Amino acid sequence: MADNVGNADARPDLDLEGEFGEDEGTLTEQEIADAMAGCGQAAVGMPVGGADAQDDLRVRPSEAERSGHPAPSGHPGGHPGGPDDRQRHGGARSVGFRPGGGPAALAYEARTGIKAPRIIAWEITRSCNLSCAHCRAAAEFGHYEGELSLDKIKEVIDDIVTISNPIIILTGGEPLMRPDIWEIVDYAHEKGAMPVIGTNATLITEDIAAKMAEHKIPRISVSIDFPTADEHDAFRGQEGCFDASIEGIKIAKRHGIGVQINMTVTTLNHTKVEAVHDLAESLGIDAFHIFMLVPTGRGSDLLDKELPPEEYEKVLTWAYHRQKTSPLHFKPTDSPHYYRIIRQLAKAEGKKVTREEYGLDAMTRGCLGGITFCFISHTGDLQPCGYFDMQLGNVKDRPFSQIWTDSQVFNDLRDYSLLKGKCGACEYKAVCGGCRARALEITGDYLEAEPYCIYEPPGWTGACDETDV
Ligand code: SF4
Ligand code: SF4
Repeated sequence: MADNVGNADARPDLDLEGEFGEDEGTLTEQEIADAMAGCGQAAVGMPVGGADAQDDLRVRPSEAERSGHPAPSGHPGGHPGGPDDRQRHGGARSVGFRPGGGPAALAYEARTGIKAPRIIAWEITRSCNLSCAHCRAAAEFGHYEGELSLDKIKEVIDDIVTISNPIIILTGGEPLMRPDIWEIVDYAHEKGAMPVIGTNATLITEDIAAKMAEHKIPRISVSIDFPTADEHDAFRGQEGCFDASIEGIKIAKRHGIGVQINMTVTTLNHTKVEAVHDLAESLGIDAFHIFMLVPTGRGSDLLDKELPPEEYEKVLTWAYHRQKTSPLHFKPTDSPHYYRIIRQLAKAEGKKVTREEYGLDAMTRGCLGGITFCFISHTGDLQPCGYFDMQLGNVKDRPFSQIWTDSQVFNDLRDYSLLKGKCGACEYKAVCGGCRARALEITGDYLEAEPYCIYEPPGWTGACDETDV
């Protein structure tokens, strides 16, 4: 049976039982925020690509077309108003949903000793109107063979809800390109799950935003990597991306949809994190999540753009300090050692990482892949996350619930005592765990040490892994 909390012997200076995992009564907001951080989903809706200009973006209709659909003044979902009354978790806070807190999940956990999935990222289509350079899915416009039908998706949802009531991140590709998306959303709601959407926002019209509100989408996430249109469009190789996404964000907000901005940090933009944060703040969005590039999929071409571990550490340290005064919720993602850094910096400040002092950051873990999170591909393959390039079963062949329960890889990831190298020796492994996708990509072994962490645990006597990076 997997130990989902970690190993007490590996954390001598930490009171992790009090900090992490056992009392999950208020995890709702964090997990919705985490979901939209979409660990393993940095590619969600990410632009770039080749073509030039708006036509090729296949973006929203013209202003004239939009003007026929005036925005409502608010949404019953209760989106916060101005900066003064903005809640840290924005639109998600009003949802009051507890992923993995329903009777099916509790019964499943009691029966198996395995945590029920709380967040499932589901690539409902790989087709995308954009084609960003660092896209996990390497998605492009057009039809992809073997995508799950609506009936199959409903069948899989029927099975998922026998073991949990998760947040389901509908992602892609660009999920808004799937014509039956609202049926999927409604079915997920009907069955007790919580659907949210990761989108590039370029397709969001007044009509689409109104549908999001009508179909009770609490939040969307949108990727913005640079603070200016020139830089952003150049990075994505597609003129007009930036303006189209910003416009989509504004429209969504006018309809009361919570919005989160995701920024993928690379050597190209790591000095611009503050500026993108400030842009997000000026737009009045709810959350700002920095993603550390995981070079898989099309993003593997950007391997040389991944920050060196020391710079990586600096960005995460910046996040720790900046979020103290920012009105936005932060969630460094695909950077599990942030949860080690929180504890190190708090200790240096004479503080303990408690829920009272650090809010819900004290209660989550760095890498959740296979633990409470997983990814379903457009053709039905199940993975620990979108970046973890290993298929553990296909929902066309076996029920989701069976794969989640029986997969050896999932069960390995749940047993922190199996971690190797310095991660195995690390006192922070229960709250961090290292990025298993990076370990897999670089070493071929998903249990090996996280290659992008500079920390050397006191008990670690092996070679310093990051010298190999
Ligand atoms: S050594 Fe591994 S477990 Fe420890 S902080 Fe670094 S990545 Fe996390
Ligand atoms: S392996 Fe873990 S930390 Fe890495 S991208 Fe996947 S979920 Fe995130």
